[in-house]
Amino acid sequence: MKKIIIAIDGPAGAGKSTIAKKVAAALGYAYIDTGAMYRTVTLCYLRSGKPFSESLVTEEADHLDLSFAYRDGVNRVFLGGEEVTEAIRSLEVSRSVSAVSAVGGVRRAMVALQRRIGAAGGVVMDGRDIGTVVFPQAELKIFLTASVEERARRRCLELQQKGQAVDLEDLKKRIAERDHLDETRAISPLRCAEDAVFLDSTSLSIAEVTSRIIALAERKGACGTNL
Ligand code: C5P
Repeated sequence: MKKIIIAIDGPAGAGKSTIAKKVAAALGYAYIDTGAMYRTVTLCYLRSGKPFSESLVTEEADHLDLSFAYRDGVNRVFLGGEEVTEAIRSLEVSRSVSAVSAVGGVRRAMVALQRRIGAAGGVVMDGRDIGTVVFPQAELKIFLTASVEERARRRCLELQQKGQAVDLEDLKKRIAERDHLDETRAISPLRCAEDAVFLDSTSLSIAEVTSRIIALAERKGACGTNL
């Protein structure tokens, strides 16, 4: 059975991780959240208490003791023996992650790790540069986006469900800022690969987007084991 690489890129809050998880489950593939990797480097930098410098964050990335485990229906992230699944989603990490991920040394270390993890295929990897840089040879590339209003609305609902108070306008501003930083950075900016399928999910449901991607994967030779 052919084990392909599926790259899902797109801006913040487009639903990449929700969709990628469902596609991976349907195909019996591994799901790799590359944003979590950059977030974990950012957490290490913030915890160091030292002022930002390219050499400091590169050092953190080079020595990152990161692991993933799927347990009780949750993709968990570990730093050494400590679970940081929640900690890497904090406001502080979200505010600093674009600056950290723009550093060449950080990207080199993370891209090397991502290539090692995905080399054998049978993976759904989501991020910003998977189809353009990490796996330009990926059999299926998706660029998943939605209007900034819709992305902020979805993120707002998600946070409210977790019991967090959020201001929609503030959230919209922060998402737009992060998009801008990710799209305009010098190294591996967020952009749609020429051979990617562009999917605007503004008026599509999670189930619709998921089934479209699974159908595309099947056309590329993937075979759903859990459909
Ligand atoms: O996907 P998520 O929103 O968690 O990603 C957090 C940040 O990590 C992004 O805003 C971006 O700065 C960075 N990132 C990246 N390249 C990736 C994945 C994430 O630069 N492949």
